[in-house]
This record gives sequence, C-alpha cells and structure tokens, in this order.
Amino acid sequence: MGDPYRVKPGQKVKLSDIDPRDTDALGSEDEARGRLYLDATAIDTLQDRLYAEGKRSLLVILQGMDTSGKDGTVRGVFNTTGPLGVQVTAFRRPSEEEMAHDFLWRAHLAAPRRGTIGIFNRSHYEDVLVVKVRKLVPASDIEKRYDQINAFEKMLTENGVTILKFMLHISKAEQRERLQERLDDPKKHWKFNPGDLDDRKSWGDFMDAYETMLHRCSTEWAPWRIVPADRKWARNAVIADVVRKTLEDMNPTYPKVSWDPKSIKIV
Ligand code: ADP
Repeated sequence: MGDPYRVKPGQKVKLSDIDPRDTDALGSEDEARGRLYLDATAIDTLQDRLYAEGKRSLLVILQGMDTSGKDGTVRGVFNTTGPLGVQVTAFRRPSEEEMAHDFLWRAHLAAPRRGTIGIFNRSHYEDVLVVKVRKLVPASDIEKRYDQINAFEKMLTENGVTILKFMLHISKAEQRERLQERLDDPKKHWKFNPGDLDDRKSWGDFMDAYETMLHRCSTEWAPWRIVPADRKWARNAVIADVVRKTLEDMNPTYPKVSWDPKSIKIV
C-alpha cells in the first residue's frame, strides 16, 4: 500500500473532493481485516522494542467530527498493545487550570514518555477547530496558532518524538446514522450529547477549519493524513498500516547489556 492519504506540506485540501467511503487502496474487506490483525500484532511487538530501548516515543494524534471513530480506532488498532507502553489522553473542554495557561500547555504535559506510544483523542488542534468555529478567541490569535503548533511539533520531533496525525473523514450522512444509533440503543445513550448537534449544524464551518488546519499544519516533520472513515474496517486498516510502517522505520532495538548473561548462575 502506498501513502495516498498523506497531505503534502502547503497542499490545499478540499474535503468535499475526498470520498469518505473510498477503499480503493485497500483491496477487499476480508484482506484488509487480515492485514489489520497482522499489523496490530506487529505493533505490539514493535512497541515492546520501543519500550525496552527507552529512547524515543511515538505520538498518534486523532482528530475528527463526533462519531468519526476516534475511540474505535484506539480499540481497533491498539487492542493487542501492552497497556504499559500506551497512554491515551482525551482532550475535553479545558479545565480552569488549563485555561490559565497557553493552549499548548496541556498537550505538552501529555506528550509521551520515552519508550511509549501516546495517543491524543482530540488534541491541541481543537484550538484551531472548535475554538475557531465557536469564535472562543479572537481570529488574530487563532491565526498565530498554526505556526505555533508547527514549531511545537518540530521541537517534539527534535527531542525524539515521532508524530503521526490522522484526520478521520466521515460524511455528514454517516454521522447522522451513527448519532441515530446512539439514540436508538439504550446502551449507547451515554455517548449521545445533545450539544453534539450544535457542531453538526456548523458542519460547513468545521470543514473549512479542518481544511485550513490540514493546509497549514501538514509538515515534513509531522504530516497529516486524511483517512476515509465511513467504513470502520477501512479506517482501522489504514491507520494500523501507517503506525506499523512508522514503527518499523524507527526500528527500535533491544538494548545490549554490559554483562555476560552466561556468566550468571541463578541458584
Ligand atoms: P468525545 O466527543 O471526544 O468523546 P466529549 O464528549 O467529552 O468527548 O467531548 C469533548 C468536547 O470538548 C468536544 O465537544 C470538543 O469540541 C471540546 N473541546 C476539546 N478541546 C477544546 C478546547 N480547547 N476548547 C473548547 N472545547 C474543546
């Protein structure tokens, strides 16, 4: 599989031109599910090596509209990964303490420790998405944030953090189905937040904000990928493939010990 999902630095993106149901690069659903299983298993092994090496880390950033499958991605891709080495952080509305700091403060606090994989379920990008759409800070402040984010991410990468960013691209029609499911199934009522419907009403404004974010913040050091996400299996297959290849390229190694294991007798 190539990398048709990656946004090149400076590339202009029109989300309405990208089909959220596209599976062209994936082959059949059965094949993709088979690869997903193998990729998830490989990610677990690679994660063990990353942890043992203890020098670098991987940060996986997930962004997308409500119901786009951020939680489902964590379950589907990292389900076999040892819990020791993976830390998921959900970014909700900022607390009073978080609001008292710059917008990147909480993201930096949650950046992964050496040897681990950090997953951001939502992220500092909310500060150029929902914050922009709801006009929670002046536009001139938002404008500065794209460069601030790029500089922040560059600093992380220069300190051993490899960054992957996935925008889960679902259609408005698919979101309707998934929201309706939440209303129809009592076990899913807890997931339904009537406030989500406000964001749905601003769908067009959100797509504009996503396009600007993808255009301004897909960098050589921290590229965005747009993942067609109307089909859950396709979404997981694409992300698992990229995560696995990235970890393989990082090629973490088990440290060599300075003593001879053969010289030790356990009595
Ligand atoms: P999720 O929808 O991710 O499962 P929640 O239902 O707790 O989790 O929703 C989190 C909410 O927090 C979202 O509506 C999101 O827009 C909002 N949020 C996240 N970051 C910010 C931010 N920096 N400023 C304002 N709202 C934010």
